[in-house]
Amino acid sequence: MSAPDLSAAACGSSAAAPLRQRGQHEVFCGLTSIIWLHRKMQDAFFLIVGSRTCAHLMQSAAGVMIFAEPRFGTAIIEERDLAGMADMNDELDSVVDRLLSRRPDIKMLVLVGSCPSEVIKLDLDRAAQRLNKVHAPDRRVLSYSGSGIETTFTQGEDNFLTALVREMPATSETAPASLLIVGAMADVVEDQFERIFRSLGIEDVAFLPARRSTDLPAIGPDTRYILAQPYLGTTVTELERRGATRIEAPMPLGEEGTTAWLRAVADLYDVPQDKFDAITGPGRERARKAVAHYRDTLEGRRVFLFPDSQLEPAIARFLHRETGAEIIEVGTPFLHKRITEPEFALLPDTVAVSEGQDVDKQIERCRAANPDLIVCGMGLGNPFEAEGRATKWSIELVFSPIHGYEQAGDLAELFARPLGRRAVLEVAV
Ligand code: SF4
Repeated sequence: MSAPDLSAAACGSSAAAPLRQRGQHEVFCGLTSIIWLHRKMQDAFFLIVGSRTCAHLMQSAAGVMIFAEPRFGTAIIEERDLAGMADMNDELDSVVDRLLSRRPDIKMLVLVGSCPSEVIKLDLDRAAQRLNKVHAPDRRVLSYSGSGIETTFTQGEDNFLTALVREMPATSETAPASLLIVGAMADVVEDQFERIFRSLGIEDVAFLPARRSTDLPAIGPDTRYILAQPYLGTTVTELERRGATRIEAPMPLGEEGTTAWLRAVADLYDVPQDKFDAITGPGRERARKAVAHYRDTLEGRRVFLFPDSQLEPAIARFLHRETGAEIIEVGTPFLHKRITEPEFALLPDTVAVSEGQDVDKQIERCRAANPDLIVCGMGLGNPFEAEGRATKWSIELVFSPIHGYEQAGDLAELFARPLGRRAVLEVAV
């Protein structure tokens, strides 16, 4: 077995200019990312500085989550705060004091900005600096924006990781080359990748976000990093400002994407092809078999992807290349050209690409195309289902472990399931 030829010449680079739309869009705000981030970094607490709407969103998006000690909460901005009758900074300081004195397990407090905190121009960066003077070094305080003003939900993670990169210590001048994997993945997936890297002889590997805030890796000119999530444009800028160099590859989704991703790292460490094939071969075989199980359901099905998670180009590539689905339109909230290029290089020119959203126009395009499956946000999913169309909520892609060889079958199943369900309903009716 050998790595696939991923050159644009081999795959037919998608040369068509994307359709840029700037109208009404339907996406969750960046606060939503706290739902997976608070599970990832286990000594952090995410304190949303927002309104009751923000608190309700978090509670309903997070579902029924009962913790003895929760790891996120909302400092509610009341009406008198909005009217400028109270000093929000004093109120915030006293909320933080109470929280940290009651919860010694919190090692990193993350102040998360919202639409209301932005509207009243509450400067959470300065608040974090002020609070750090009181609580550091035992506890670190940092901030990022999760506001829904012109953002989409995965940007919450992008903003959080950007803030973390600013906190990472600098490597010493004599530090050996190190590898940083950037983007939140399930712990079980990180462990799988770590084992593969170790088998390939690559030992110095760190993940961002780290599982504990006290384990933030060092960064410098000898750091090479590779993205595990495609929605990290601002983090990329910050990593490069700190001197790190990016390894370009498609996202590690599906057998082909995972192999290309691992091969890009292996090339940097001069891992011979036969060793690479021997280490990755069994995983590749398992992934192929698992995806093949869903091929009958997905092959030839026409799929339309609305802009939501920013994972859309990678998902379109996986569905087209590994399950034989036909992609009609790939919408993405933002088109980070450098990040998405390896995905589009693997898609045919016939795929329409759109950036941003003008939701009514896009709904009309989708209805006219009459796809077999629509990948979209929750707000569009239910109305489309009511029209008798099969949908997949794209937010599930960030809540489910989908990266790597062992999850390739689960990834295919996410898209096969709604088609299977609809087929059963049609037979039943
Ligand atoms: Fe709504 Fe903005 Fe709060 Fe998100 S941050 S829940 S969009 S008010």
